[in-house]
Amino acid sequence: MVDVLKLYKETGALLEGHFLLRSGLHSPMFLQSTTLLQHPIYAEAVGEALGELFEDLELDFVIGPAMGGVVLAFVSAKALGVRALFAEKDTQGGMLVREGLTIHPGERFLAVEDVVTTGDSVGRAIRAAEGKGAKCVAVGAIIDRSQKADFGVPFKAITRLAFPTYEPQNCPLCARGLPLQEV
Ligand SMILES: [Zn+2]
Repeated sequence: MVDVLKLYKETGALLEGHFLLRSGLHSPMFLQSTTLLQHPIYAEAVGEALGELFEDLELDFVIGPAMGGVVLAFVSAKALGVRALFAEKDTQGGMLVREGLTIHPGERFLAVEDVVTTGDSVGRAIRAAEGKGAKCVAVGAIIDRSQKADFGVPFKAITRLAFPTYEPQNCPLCARGLPLQEV
C-alpha cells in the first residue's frame, strides 16, 4: 500500500502553519490534495490504493464532489473499472449531478473525497446521486481525519491521521498571534 503521507510531503502538499479549516476549527496542518493530485503518476497510485480497498464491491460508478473529488473519482474509477462521475454545487447549498453524467435508478456507487474531516462535502455528493435513484454502498477517502464520520455505509481511508484541531477560542496558535490562513 502506498505511503500517502510521504507523497503529500514529497509534493509539498502537506502545509504547516495556522489554518482555518472548512469545519471552522483551527489547525497547524493542512493537506492540500490538489497539489498532490496534479501529478498524474501519484494520482494514479492513490486511485489504485483506494480501488484495492473496495475491489470486493459490485459497483457501477464512483462519484466525488467537485472540484477536489473530480480527479480522485476518476483515478479510483479507473482502478475499479467503472464510470467516474462528479457532483457540483447547486444554488441552494447542496450539490447536483449535471445532465450528461448518466445515473440509472438502482445503480450502486462508491463516493470518494480526498480528506474527510466533517464529511459534509462527500455527504452532499451522495445525496445528489441518491436523488437520481442510485444507492451509495461505501465511502472512500485518501485520508480520514474525522472524528469517526458516519455515513451509514462502510467508510474506509488509505490512511487515518489525527492532526490537532482547535476551537478558535482555545487555539494556541491564535494565542501566539500567528496569522490565520483560510483553506
Ligand atoms: Zn487559531
